[in-house]
Amino acid sequence: MLKTKQVLNSLETQILKFVHLKDYKSAEVYIKKENSVLKFDKCADWLLSKLVLKPQVEKIFNKKHIYCVWDLLLTKPLRNEHYTQITPIIHAKDYACIQGTVVSKKAGNPYTIVIDDGYGRLDCKWFNLNQFLKHILKNIKVGSHVVCEGKITEFGLFKEMHHPRIKASSQFKPHIEVIYPSFGNLKNTTIKKIIEQHLLLSPNPPYDYLPYTIIARNNLPFLSEVFEALHVKSAFDEKIEKRLKYDELFLMQLGLALQEAYKANEPISIEFDEDFLQKIEKKLPFELTIDQKKAINTILNDMHYAKTSSRLLQGDVGSGKTIVALICALAVLKNNYQVCIMSPTTSLAEQTFTVAKKFLEDEGFNVGLLVSTTKKKNEIYQAVKDFKIHCLIGTHALLNEKLEFSNLGFLVIDEQHRFGVDQRKILSSKGKSAYMLIMSATPIPRSLAFAIYGKTKIVEIRSMPKNRKAVHTIHLYKKSEDKAFLHAREEILKKHQVYIVFALIEESQSKVDFDSLMGSYEDIKNKYFGEFKCAFLHSNIKSAQKEKIFHDFVHGKIDCLMSTTVIEVGIDNPNATVIIIENAENYGLAQLHQLRGRVGRSDLDSFCYLITKDRISSLAKRRIDVLLSTNDGFEIAKQDLILRGSGEIYSTRQHGLPDLEFADILNDRELLEKAQSDIYELLSLKYPLSNGLIKMVEHKWQKKFSFARVI
Ligand code: ADP
Ligand code: MG
Repeated sequence: MLKTKQVLNSLETQILKFVHLKDYKSAEVYIKKENSVLKFDKCADWLLSKLVLKPQVEKIFNKKHIYCVWDLLLTKPLRNEHYTQITPIIHAKDYACIQGTVVSKKAGNPYTIVIDDGYGRLDCKWFNLNQFLKHILKNIKVGSHVVCEGKITEFGLFKEMHHPRIKASSQFKPHIEVIYPSFGNLKNTTIKKIIEQHLLLSPNPPYDYLPYTIIARNNLPFLSEVFEALHVKSAFDEKIEKRLKYDELFLMQLGLALQEAYKANEPISIEFDEDFLQKIEKKLPFELTIDQKKAINTILNDMHYAKTSSRLLQGDVGSGKTIVALICALAVLKNNYQVCIMSPTTSLAEQTFTVAKKFLEDEGFNVGLLVSTTKKKNEIYQAVKDFKIHCLIGTHALLNEKLEFSNLGFLVIDEQHRFGVDQRKILSSKGKSAYMLIMSATPIPRSLAFAIYGKTKIVEIRSMPKNRKAVHTIHLYKKSEDKAFLHAREEILKKHQVYIVFALIEESQSKVDFDSLMGSYEDIKNKYFGEFKCAFLHSNIKSAQKEKIFHDFVHGKIDCLMSTTVIEVGIDNPNATVIIIENAENYGLAQLHQLRGRVGRSDLDSFCYLITKDRISSLAKRRIDVLLSTNDGFEIAKQDLILRGSGEIYSTRQHGLPDLEFADILNDRELLEKAQSDIYELLSLKYPLSNGLIKMVEHKWQKKFSFARVI
């Protein structure tokens, strides 16, 4: 082993020297040698090979998403039981090894054997014995010397061991027992044996699938050392953990980088008049905020200098991101490129379509809409291909492979956190040089942004439009919810509109006792809004009908809209001034903030009523308090992180990234950045990635990799 390491170290020095001199050819020669030492491809093939198991056992493993050797060997033991020395009964605790004489025996359930070691007594008990064990225990005679290994349970002064391993004293060998998490009804010894058997098939150590440069510069243990530490030596430590985390982050990031590498075309470059923005602003019904202008200038500059090909635009609900995107779109259109905007829902797409049509058709550009319910899709595909539609707005329907642009230059993805990485990729493949603008209302922690968007820079809109007033937020317990409804009536009498939000559609939907939309609709309508126009809306309503209700609400034909959280995303009706949220204790901070953002979209005074049960948890109360204290989405996101912790909110899967078992995006940010910079360097040096490594990346991305859906 030492010798191999020495060889490798000298190789490493050589490689780095050549790489430094940018003499890649010589580096490659060395890397080939390096491969032969570490057996990269062979290692990957072995790791990805199927498990050799009986079908019924295989089923148990598959249930836990364990399909290949790699999955199996990454099973981290639950704990290690140290049976390395004999402990006197009097001092024994946790897992211990006891040596003594059998002083009494009692068959039955439990089967009891009492041991005395001169310092004390220990009752060993077996419940519901099987025949095999019964036979073994029968052969243990009173007076014989035995060793028992297991967990000590204390009952006051008495100590017991349940289901210990018992053997003749002469057979005791100091050892560490590795205990694995449970797999169906498999015994720990069986799991251990399976792991050992598969380990035996490994290439000779040291084996690995990562480039040696990476292992060396990060001071990581070899994979052979990791498996040995986990399953043989029971020596799981920080170094081993670091390697496991690094691998996850590395494979995840390399997958992303490889997906993006194909998009290495030159980004578009656009020209625009110096007074472009001023001229446009004159045509708008409002004045742009400073941050909106800043964002527009940043994006236009990106595109003008063609150095950057993407941006993440973060701005709180209602901060006016749409117009930023549309103004930039106009500049792109004037340069004879096409524009595409993807929204997460049909109603949002339609809303953007209406605004865009008004804004862009004035300037002589044609705007099209493509959603799943669009009829004559083929005509739209053709018009887009023929450059007859210049700006296309839509939903997932845009991902259809038949959609081809003639000259796509600008791609906008609205409310990006609802889309997965893969969807972003499909869409961007439709315009390889297109600039991508991702818009999000939920600020995400920097390291997650970093993981998902890599080098993509962020531009923020912090200030709200001038006419905005903070939404008055009021917390009411259920027993006083009358106040909210009576207030809502007053607002409707002033010709304003109202949302009422429920957590459930029907009463029977789940066991939780929340008020449901359908269970409350008639009651509330009759009691408070009898003379007004009411409607209800939930996800089971057919989309055509849903769209009609949205449309009627936005056009003032409905006074009071009772719905589930389908209204959460981006619906814009500036005339709505009250939102009443039932069972507000049920939602997370971000969701409540999104819901509250449905009102306060004009210069009218608006109100958000948070109705909760009379008794709520202290955590729910703290969430409500945060909402009462601030309207700032960035502050709310910060508090959310404090209250919930990172793992719960920012799962990688939600963003279409592979699951992480060892690493944590937020806490392991440094390692993430390290992995990412290593990858950029490898790729920029055109370091030949071994086939084995590529296969490992593919595996990481496929396993449990859902083609991310709207959540
Ligand atoms: P979001 O950032 O949540 O997507 P929108 O783009 O939907 O917000 O904008 C919300 C509302 O604010 C729209 O009705 C839009 O016309 C309006 N708006 C945008 N910018 C301004 C501004 N600078 N002044 C006044 N109203 C604005
Ligand atoms: Mg929006």
